[in-house]
Amino acid sequence: MSTLSVIIPSYNEESNIERTAETIGRILSEAQIEYELLFVSDGSSDKTYELVCNLAKRDAHIKGLEFSRNFGKEATIFAGLSCAKGDCCAVIDCDLQHPPETLVEMYRLWEQGYEVIEGIKSSRGKEGLIHKMFVGIFYGIMSKLMKIDMNATSDFKLMDRKVVDALLTLNEKNTFFRALSFWVGFKSTTVTFDVQERVAGKSKWSFTSLVKYAISNTTSFTTAPLQFVTFIGVIMIIFSVVLGVQTLVKYFMGTAVEGFTTVILLLLIIGGCIMISLGIIGHYLSRIFDEVKGRPRYIIRNKTDNF
Ligand code: UDP
Ligand code: MG
Repeated sequence: MSTLSVIIPSYNEESNIERTAETIGRILSEAQIEYELLFVSDGSSDKTYELVCNLAKRDAHIKGLEFSRNFGKEATIFAGLSCAKGDCCAVIDCDLQHPPETLVEMYRLWEQGYEVIEGIKSSRGKEGLIHKMFVGIFYGIMSKLMKIDMNATSDFKLMDRKVVDALLTLNEKNTFFRALSFWVGFKSTTVTFDVQERVAGKSKWSFTSLVKYAISNTTSFTTAPLQFVTFIGVIMIIFSVVLGVQTLVKYFMGTAVEGFTTVILLLLIIGGCIMISLGIIGHYLSRIFDEVKGRPRYIIRNKTDNF
């Protein structure tokens, strides 16, 4: 009998743990799927891990990990994947925004031989206007670069053991799970689901954390911004040749006196471009620095006894 490991990133989710464990457990047992629920507490400051421990004592299906501090959702996913024992692994949010019924649908597709089953959002659920706009821009860029419609993708997916092992061989510390599952390839299919309303607690994303997330994911996945720097450089050179010729012609014709405004404008534009370019390069440099340090992606403080 095959086992499904369900990885559940949980950061300050004390109001959801019990309901989530109960709901997913019930749905999977009704569907007669052998499973384990792996809660990964991301340095929660509330009772999240305590609740998981209590559940684990009563129910052997439930296991828990606790990080030493908040390492982010990506880290929880990879910690879960590396501790999961199942023949296939699924990742699902702790707030039941990803409908657990879809897990069964995904599992059936896995049984038919698919190796990656992507959860695709048929609607994004309720989000603020600014949030929507920002997410739209970010995913617009990502979709262009990745050549897949990223706007509808989610972290809700089910993967075969082979895929999980492949993901775990990736050395990078800054991961972007949502896109990496496409990157590794394998035989994949999609399942659409409606994003539900969060049942309890609130979203962990602030606007700044989203901006950081977007920048870090774009740069961890693509070097396009660096090429953009080159692009700006080329435009600048073409511009300067044209202006250079014009200036020289004016000089030899003896009409080159005015033009202080042009000088100031040029200085500002060039200065601005150089600063932005340096910033982009600096950002990549810091990413390289982070990777080179080779620190672990997460630190585990505690595991439930049934591991
Ligand atoms: N999460 C996490 N670490 C974090 C932030 C979030 O493990 O630093 C988990 C959180 O507990 C939830 C999932 O990631 O299970 C999605 O988070 P949230 O619901 O806050 O995001 P949203 O659904 O609003 O995108
Ligand atoms: Mg949520």
